[in-house]
Amino acid sequence: MYSSPPALEKLVQEFSKLPSIGRKTARRLAFYLVSGDKKKMGDLAEALTEAQNRIVHCSCCYGFSESEICQICENPRRSREILCVVERASDILPFENSGIHKGLYFVLGGVLSPLDGIKPETLRIPILIERIEREGVKELILALGSSPEAESTALYIDRVLANSPVRRTKLARGIPVGSDLEFIDDVTMLRAFEERVGI
Ligand SMILES: [Zn+2]
Repeated sequence: MYSSPPALEKLVQEFSKLPSIGRKTARRLAFYLVSGDKKKMGDLAEALTEAQNRIVHCSCCYGFSESEICQICENPRRSREILCVVERASDILPFENSGIHKGLYFVLGGVLSPLDGIKPETLRIPILIERIEREGVKELILALGSSPEAESTALYIDRVLANSPVRRTKLARGIPVGSDLEFIDDVTMLRAFEERVGI
């Protein structure tokens, strides 16, 4: 039985490890790259190496950055009093694209899921609580989505902060249940943000 050259097979394997890429798509991508001009492959390899070497987590919000502190956290015009908590770094994008949020962010790194062993300490919840106290945050927007795990994570954080003066809010309804924040359109985002409610 014919099998592809090992280097090509390896490329297929690496692609198929990526999210939402099945074996068929992985093969198509790999064959596309090796059939095209070599420069395209070189550019991709260079972009991967550059991302590997340069992208780090911002030490303040844990979003992605090329410096220790990201551009958002560094910006003196952003309010330090409103902190928007998101599940993943990519969830910052829809807020920034809509331009609605004038405060800062905090990337939690996931949502609570006891069955999968994801506990408060696994996430950055202790760091978040410490930051709220240290920086005198006035409003915490829990933008964690609407899956059951996300809802219970928001409730957990709300409970931990029960005696704190920080106001806890969440985005208004309008985001389809279980949908990823990154796929939300600007208009829905603006509405959900402006009509945010207390927890
Ligand atoms: Zn940052």
